[in-house]
Amino acid sequence: MKAIRGATTVESDNAEQIRERVFELLNEIKQRNGIECEDVECITFSSTDDIHSFYPAKAAREAGFFSCALFSAMEPKINGSLKMCIRVLIFADTDKKPVPVYLHGAAVLRKDLTQKMNIAIDGPAGSGKSTISKIIAKKLNILCLDTGAMYRAFALKCKKSGVDCLNDEGVCALAENIDIEVKYTDGIQHTYLEGKDVSEEIRNNEISMLASTVSAVRCVREKMVELQRKIAQNNSCILDGRDIGTNVLPNAQYKFYLTASAEVRAKRRHEELLAKNKKISFDEVLTDIIKRDEQDRTREIAPLIMAKDAVLIDSSNMSVEEVVHFIERKLQEKI
Ligand code: C5P
Repeated sequence: MKAIRGATTVESDNAEQIRERVFELLNEIKQRNGIECEDVECITFSSTDDIHSFYPAKAAREAGFFSCALFSAMEPKINGSLKMCIRVLIFADTDKKPVPVYLHGAAVLRKDLTQKMNIAIDGPAGSGKSTISKIIAKKLNILCLDTGAMYRAFALKCKKSGVDCLNDEGVCALAENIDIEVKYTDGIQHTYLEGKDVSEEIRNNEISMLASTVSAVRCVREKMVELQRKIAQNNSCILDGRDIGTNVLPNAQYKFYLTASAEVRAKRRHEELLAKNKKISFDEVLTDIIKRDEQDRTREIAPLIMAKDAVLIDSSNMSVEEVVHFIERKLQEKI
């Protein structure tokens, strides 16, 4: 079940025009979302208080929505809202991502949907950044950029080319022509190295350590940061990494620093790796996490530190849902 938004306007409070515009809006929604009247469970309308002469719900019945529940209400006065506007929310049985439809100058009312927003989530390895970021991105219908995956892809390139990640010269030669791309399928990030999807191949402990080493090299960071900024500039997105709030997007509207004790983080990572059938002991994961923290925190360029204006979240004793809820509340406070 998906909720599809839409809106249209009328020039006057005229029953015929209201009927026509509602027909048009519902037809567009059906077409753009590939749904039929039978797929729709319920339609709710709200009209501004300058529209009285016709109920949009009546128009929907006339348009063939015979079996779904219909409801019309008056929209409360909202600062900055349009005049003579009819809004609709359709609940339909579809798997597709909803395509909102706005006609005749109507626009989305929710500020969080109109403004381009960039959310930075930084923190050490295993703090839950990527799990949390994915959930928030899905809820807000924005992109989620796991910047660590890009450094991991670079590390994989080094490994495949036999270049030591500590050898700045060799690494920078690779950086000059590196071909790393991030693409999205149904909102899920796929990381490509030279045209090949390496999203799974980069998820192991060896690559984690190599990524941490290679990410300390200036030319690598410059390349990756350029790519990250480009994505953030063109899209509303949540970026998770180490230096998003401090370096990549110092002007991001929302910044969070997510952390947890090293033991809790190692336990989460260990369980994640075991679930993927990767054989490794808890102690090994803990040692690597502590080493990686140290490397990430003490490197010269863009080290892992909390931005001054970030909100600190210690998730050691918090569930995923609790962290998500906390972040959502903070976002709403600012929107
Ligand atoms: O987040 P993830 O564990 O996938 O990151 C792998 C490594 O990439 C980190 O240990 C860190 O050294 C590096 N990284 C970084 N800056 C980012 C994201 C990741 O230096 N923005």
